[in-house]
Amino acid sequence: MTELELIKSTKERLLVSVDEADANVDARELVRFADGDLEKLENAITRRLLGEPLQYIIGEWDFYNCNFRVGEGVLIPRPETELLVDKALEFLGTLNGSNDDGGELANYLYNVVYGKRVRGTYVAEHETVDAKVLDLCSGSGCIAVSIAKNIVDTLPGTKVFAVEKSPVAFEYLKQNIALNRVQRYVVPFCDDVLSGCTNLLGSAKGQFDLVVSNPPYVRSAECEVLQTEVMHEPRLALDGGADGLIFYRAIAERWLSLLKPGGLLLLECGEDQAGDIKAILDATSCGEVEIFDDFAGISRVVALKMY
Ligand code: GLN
Repeated sequence: MTELELIKSTKERLLVSVDEADANVDARELVRFADGDLEKLENAITRRLLGEPLQYIIGEWDFYNCNFRVGEGVLIPRPETELLVDKALEFLGTLNGSNDDGGELANYLYNVVYGKRVRGTYVAEHETVDAKVLDLCSGSGCIAVSIAKNIVDTLPGTKVFAVEKSPVAFEYLKQNIALNRVQRYVVPFCDDVLSGCTNLLGSAKGQFDLVVSNPPYVRSAECEVLQTEVMHEPRLALDGGADGLIFYRAIAERWLSLLKPGGLLLLECGEDQAGDIKAILDATSCGEVEIFDDFAGISRVVALKMY
């Protein structure tokens, strides 16, 4: 059978439970993944027919201009999240860089994460820190890594701190940092955004240029009735509490004060949440709030520019 025939027959079989639009892409990806091994293809088709997401089966997915390892226990990067990265890079591009503390805070935080046994320092003495970025609920690291990867030519002293609570997702985060060769720029923390991170919160007030997050935002009740594929994804990465807004309140209360004057907060949100999140941020009186639409015309990112 030629590769084309194999793709066609795979597509036919997928159509039993996968819709037409997805079946085309899925068939091509699965055949590419099996790479001529028919048993591997058979196994992959079975898993897909049982509702497992394509991305978990092939174990990787592209986001922005980077590639990420994914699997059970970590949220799959979504195309709409690229808007948040666009806005982050746009903002970082306006910074002049080299206006910082020479890496003192970055070194301190690095030691907090890795302990004092680390030999030397994270940021060398002669190196300046151009921009400090914080990514909350980092998951696979798709936001933190693609920001780092795309800004370091302009601001080579950028440091991105990525916080993720789930130990399973945290392993993917570390792996994706290494895979995309941004170890010098991205520091992963395994901690809880809602109640943890006390060292970081206590020592970094007014220090960050940019805080970004795509937190869990699905309402708890809606988590019970998601699409089959999404049901395979970790509830921890989806469930934003009864009204889906727990993380936005926590970010406004606990994390906003880490931004410098003129710093930017960028939050991804669900389809009908931008208005509520704007209200939460407006109530802080910390800055100007703006909403941005994604490629599908959905209000997807809420931004706050600190006064
Ligand atoms: N966008 C995801 C969904 O489709 C939700 C991700 C999140 O909660 N941040 O369900």
